[in-house]
Amino acid sequence: MPRGDGRLTHELDPQQPGPQDACGVFGVWAPGEEVAKLTYFGLYALQHRGQEAAGIAVSDGSSVVVYKDLGLVAQVFDESTLASLRGHIAIGHARYSTTGASNWENAQPTLRATTPRGTSGDDGPAATTIALAHNGNLVNTAELARRVAELGVGDATTTSDTALVTALLAARPDLSVEAAALEVLPTLRGAFSFVFMDEDTLYAARDPQGVRPLVLGRLERGWVVASETAALDMVGASVVREIEPGELLAIDEHGLRSSRFAAPEPKGCLFEYVYLARPDSTISGRNIYAGRVAIGRALAREHPVEADLVIPVPESGTPAAIGYAEESGIPYGAGLVKNAYVGRTFIQPSQTIRQLGIRLKLNPLRDNVRGKRIVVVDDSIVRGNTQRAIIRMLREAGAVEVHVRISSPPVKWPCFYGIDFATKAELLANGLDTDGIRRSIGADSLGYVSLPGLIAATEQPKTRLCRACFDGEYPIDLPADNVIGKHVLEGLAKTAANTGGHASKRRGSDSSHAGENSRRTGTGESAGGNERVATSPGGADALLRP
Ligand code: SF4
Repeated sequence: MPRGDGRLTHELDPQQPGPQDACGVFGVWAPGEEVAKLTYFGLYALQHRGQEAAGIAVSDGSSVVVYKDLGLVAQVFDESTLASLRGHIAIGHARYSTTGASNWENAQPTLRATTPRGTSGDDGPAATTIALAHNGNLVNTAELARRVAELGVGDATTTSDTALVTALLAARPDLSVEAAALEVLPTLRGAFSFVFMDEDTLYAARDPQGVRPLVLGRLERGWVVASETAALDMVGASVVREIEPGELLAIDEHGLRSSRFAAPEPKGCLFEYVYLARPDSTISGRNIYAGRVAIGRALAREHPVEADLVIPVPESGTPAAIGYAEESGIPYGAGLVKNAYVGRTFIQPSQTIRQLGIRLKLNPLRDNVRGKRIVVVDDSIVRGNTQRAIIRMLREAGAVEVHVRISSPPVKWPCFYGIDFATKAELLANGLDTDGIRRSIGADSLGYVSLPGLIAATEQPKTRLCRACFDGEYPIDLPADNVIGKHVLEGLAKTAANTGGHASKRRGSDSSHAGENSRRTGTGESAGGNERVATSPGGADALLRP
């Protein structure tokens, strides 16, 4: 009998997800502080960036331990788990998968010891253990997989770009992790905001384009790095600065060191300003809430309409709806109430419940909308099903006209740098013009903010922004179609297995590692009521699995 997964989601219609972010990362170096709890609260603030899995790694100076599982941060960790994660360095991750399947093995932080398996046993040199968390998506994953296979450091249990980077960092036991990072980071292509650690040091690195945000904060007795400034606020850290595109930071008992591994070519993600980042975060000096209000103002100037009430699609449409109302002079009010606590499959929905769809998440305020001409402001249209359902709901509640205003230009191109919109074929704006979309969703009128209007609202120069999902100009070169995409590594493995070629032999040798891992799983010892899974060759690390 099918069972619900018990997971909550912020999606209005879980069958039709909106843009999915590619993870939140957090790191802390703070002797004397409860670093696992700080990381928990940091991840809590970043939960909107990924809801599939969560994990925390800690080091007490002699060993690195990772605890991770599928689910929301509050579902993965409880008081006793956090209490068992002791140390002075921690990193954390909230995952949405953009490369690799959504499974436990691909949850992060990833963990690798520097001593390659099979070359050193208990008598060998002590290994350094690396834990790594990634926000973004690499585009030369296939090339990295080849390099990892050639070095013989692959791990067939994971199918993520992040695991490949961790393997490459761990493949240089002759170098410090910092030196290995300065060799590996310049070879990566795509979007990456990394936080990683070994027993003694916290690291943070950002791709040369700085596609995804990453900020540095200061605690009274330590340092914090996080995807967004709101996570620094949450743990009482002051914002120091953004980690620069192409910069590697190392933080340890000697203080903070900065190195450059590539020249900066800033191309920050424009969609962070529209939807992805929290409104109480700041990116490149621009407060996101103020930016969204400005987008709403631009929308009102570009697409005015006679109406009685401006309402947002809660909550992501709220600041833009406020801006639209301010600029147009049309009163702002609530027309839809969101029930934030309905689970995706908290109970396995029957067909009858499934048909309720969006009604499980949104309820119209009938008294507010009845007899009125409504402007409803939303952040984006991906497939159009959500907007179609909302418009129908508003009309059934008595709205006489429904005008839709969207605070981003039409999304016509897929993102390869860490946001999962939908396939190109699923994007409604890809096959229809604005009037076709209006008819498809059943609105009386439809207006998207223009790309120049959106860019102006961010207060960033156009040249410093990635706009590819709107205009198709990809700032980081993409490889051929067949070596890109969410399941690129699974695809390569399948091809190799089918052809019985060179790669399959390498994967064969990798799978012996997988076997080794699974045997370890079977002999795990108990740690705080959880199964302790793996001990590295250096005896330094452990993976805790619920
Ligand atoms: S393609 Fe769009 S979502 Fe992806 S990084 Fe560029 S602006 Fe952001």
